[in-house]
Amino acid sequence: PSSPAGWRFDHSYARLPEVFHEAVEPSSVREPKMIVFNDRLAAELGLDAGLANHPALFAGNETAPGGRWLAQAYAGHQYGHFTMLGDGRALLLGEHLTPKDERFDIQLKGPGPTPFSRRGDGRAALGPMLREYIISEAMHALGIPTTRSLAVVTTGEVVYREGTMRGAVLTRVAASHIRVGTFEYAAARHEKEPLRALADHTMQRHYPEIVNAERPYVAFLEAVIERQAALIAQWQRVGFIHGVMNTDNMAISGETIDYGPCAFMDAYDPATVFSSIDRHGRYAYGRQPFIAQWNLARFAEALLPLLHEDEKKSVEIANEAIESFESRFKRHWLGVMRGKLGLLTEEDDDGALVQSLLDWMLQAKADFTNTFRDLSRATAAAEMPAEPEFRDWHQRWQARLGRQPQTRQEVVASMQRHNPAFIPRNHKVEEALAAAAENDELGEMERLLRVLAHPYDHSKPHPGYDKPSGEGDYRTFCGT
Ligand code: AMP
Ligand code: MG
Ligand code: MG
Repeated sequence: PSSPAGWRFDHSYARLPEVFHEAVEPSSVREPKMIVFNDRLAAELGLDAGLANHPALFAGNETAPGGRWLAQAYAGHQYGHFTMLGDGRALLLGEHLTPKDERFDIQLKGPGPTPFSRRGDGRAALGPMLREYIISEAMHALGIPTTRSLAVVTTGEVVYREGTMRGAVLTRVAASHIRVGTFEYAAARHEKEPLRALADHTMQRHYPEIVNAERPYVAFLEAVIERQAALIAQWQRVGFIHGVMNTDNMAISGETIDYGPCAFMDAYDPATVFSSIDRHGRYAYGRQPFIAQWNLARFAEALLPLLHEDEKKSVEIANEAIESFESRFKRHWLGVMRGKLGLLTEEDDDGALVQSLLDWMLQAKADFTNTFRDLSRATAAAEMPAEPEFRDWHQRWQARLGRQPQTRQEVVASMQRHNPAFIPRNHKVEEALAAAAENDELGEMERLLRVLAHPYDHSKPHPGYDKPSGEGDYRTFCGT
């Protein structure tokens, strides 16, 4: 039965062996105040819009009926190094069941310390929580699997980072928070039964179609690899750079998770990095597929005891599955790029046609989003760049379009569905955050959220919102 506000909790994760979680009593924050509440998401979840008037529920000061706080245990490879982690500044309230019986984790990020906080304060600052809200909701509108954001409240307390900042709590909604790192944690404990319980739970939740497969754990590994290959191709489609693809930030559900130093690329360049701490470009735009495969290899290693009774066989199966990432990703990437160029049939040279355009974009420092947006408009080539390399490419592309049966209008309509006109431009995000976090002026953020809610609407211009950021040295900061 659901509560008057619509909450309907279950706690299937809490029924896993106790090594996977710690019960936590949240500390109260001083003065919870609602900053932004996602009415549309609340409605989708079957929750009452009136919850916007109950900030205490979204700060951990009060517990929604049926909720039960816990911190999840996990490990992870951070920048290549294995560490034991766990929710250091997040608490799971439970799994809310929607009126359609869909199951979503409701998690508070930043409400205070947990048994996994180590040296951290368990808290979060307003700017980064609003940033996660804006970008995760933008990703959702772009049609990319992602966790979502239900609310941000301020705590009436300060947090100490580089100076003092206003404390805040984000309510995150996710298919689950089970990560590659959750499996690494289980594997590091060298006990097969908890590992098996975690695998069974996760398959049941996210891959129910394979629980009865002949070799369910092998099918599980392959299905996770397939979903990640599809996800990364979607990131590449819109120029999204996650920024901190540690294995604890890769969700088994296939959702984009943990928006820290992420940002969208302006000028096309595979070497693009925004994160101030990613000094070696480990998580650069062009390396995301490779890193995903590396993370999935860590996942496969964790699953080894379940893949086959014979250890050698397990390794063979894992290797083969991991190698398949390349062809899976290539297939998804080519599909995505065909979509961006309006190629509605398949020809062998399509990959080369895409690559020629990207090569030109790189040397011309062409804006990734606006180049594809402009190609998606039914305008004459006269408005296109005049460089001969581009003109040659454009002719090849036009000839290619001429060899498919679709009309010009069909191609344009399809391209406009695959190429956003609006992405969260770094300067617009920063403007909105500065106004909101420093001056409590939320108008700019609301305008930005409205534009980003319709990224494929090519009919309405929003001057300024489509402008590249134009600073070559934009930097994002992590973990605040
Ligand atoms: P992230 O970089 O957000 O993926 O976090 C990596 C790990 O550090 C996770 O285990 C977090 O729970 C933990 N962590 C990040 N910030 C804090 C904080 N302020 N207090 C405690 N733990 C934190
Ligand atoms: Mg426990
Ligand atoms: Mg994380």
